[in-house]
Amino acid sequence: MENYMEFWEQALYILESRLSDITFRTWIKPLKPLNMTEDTFTLQVHVPFAKDIIEKKCLSEIESALTFINGGVPLKANIVLPSGDNAPSPVKVEEKNEEKNDKSNNFKLPNGLMPRYTFENFVIGSNNQMAHAAAVNVANNLGADYNPLFIYGGVGLGKTHLMHAIGNRVCKDNPNAKILYVSCETFTNELIDAIKDKTPEKFRHKYRNIDLLLIDDIQFISSKQATQEEFFFTFNDLWQNGKQIVITSDRHPSSIQNLTKRLVSRLTGGLPIDIGYPNMETSVAILRSKAESQNIAIENEVLRYIAEAVKTNIRDMEGALTTVIAYSRLINPDGKPIDMEMATMALKDTLGSSKPELTVEYIQQTVAEYHSFTVEELCSKKKTKDLALARQIAMYFSRKLLGNTETLVSVGNKFGGKDHSTVSHAIELVGKKMEDDPTFATMMIDIEKILTNK
Ligand code: ADP
Ligand code: MG
Repeated sequence: MENYMEFWEQALYILESRLSDITFRTWIKPLKPLNMTEDTFTLQVHVPFAKDIIEKKCLSEIESALTFINGGVPLKANIVLPSGDNAPSPVKVEEKNEEKNDKSNNFKLPNGLMPRYTFENFVIGSNNQMAHAAAVNVANNLGADYNPLFIYGGVGLGKTHLMHAIGNRVCKDNPNAKILYVSCETFTNELIDAIKDKTPEKFRHKYRNIDLLLIDDIQFISSKQATQEEFFFTFNDLWQNGKQIVITSDRHPSSIQNLTKRLVSRLTGGLPIDIGYPNMETSVAILRSKAESQNIAIENEVLRYIAEAVKTNIRDMEGALTTVIAYSRLINPDGKPIDMEMATMALKDTLGSSKPELTVEYIQQTVAEYHSFTVEELCSKKKTKDLALARQIAMYFSRKLLGNTETLVSVGNKFGGKDHSTVSHAIELVGKKMEDDPTFATMMIDIEKILTNK
């Protein structure tokens, strides 16, 4: 197979049916295919600590799936670290594959923009109509009506897409415009480094010398005073000079924890607009446009089936569609339109099973598996560092997600009879670690997504 991305998609389909749901979603799905040679397939982990775990836990399954797709000719899997983490030159590999990445439209420009997200391929529905109109307005009139434009809403609903679309439109209309897209994490990390290394000028030069600043997922802004302060100054500087700022978040500014009052007031100063959940019509239209962009023939009934089954998250809908497409390529090489029979077969493991009920036991099982422990260990008295942390994480989520029914005492009891003060200590500790350690915070988001099935 000439396209390694497609190859990996097919391997994913097999792996999904062979591994447990949690293992698949935690370790396999985030892997990024980098390159494929005659005997080796290179995959990049999304976080450094995943490499070790995947090599211990899933390497043989991965290699067996790859070999299967390769028609029985053995393929080894080479797991590499994220770029910049001493990966065995994944950068070179990426360079070599630039053209292919280009084809799959998954690459980023130096200014952080992803060309694949445009207004042209954004489907307008009642849930996102306002956000879309404001975004177009901003792209046409930088720094005029909505500044900042603040778009908020749940996971996978199109915030990032709209943000890139603004950048791409501005870039097209005015190739000289200085545009910068950053995730909030990158922004805060660079800010923290600048404060630490005492190089604020460099940071300021980078962030204040632009016409359009796009900051994604601002809810991760650190609660540290200094970070917020510098952000406030950056914001003011751009704003006073009539430069456009666009920000996204999973919630309204006033609901972001530990945000200073003046920052809340700055962020709400433009117009916060929310993106809601798509209705059935919009979901089907989005899926259809995705299928058409790949020249895939697919029956409407199948799109409705996917939209109905996944409902609230467009990213997951797309994921289900990709699974169906990968499966149909395996069993339907003649390319007849994808029908319900193929779709239900392809999705039987993913959609067929009903959503697990969220309970303390489910949280324990998920967190234990995520960290390669057993539930018994999690509820034991053992206190090795990693185990203690996993236990604290599970306690934290038990309260966070089941706070209406589970008390500190009941959670303690379900963890092998721990005291309520142990539980409250765990919650405090995890909360603090999330504020202090962005990698840990990312992992927590990951786990929460698995638990809430988002
Ligand atoms: P968010 O940032 O809100 O979590 P994203 O912008 O990453 O969500 O969107 C998730 C996926 O759904 C992306 O692949 C995006 O292209 C797609 N998507 C969301 N809304 C739309 C839409 N209205 N039209 C087309 N694709 C959409
Ligand atoms: Mg996003």
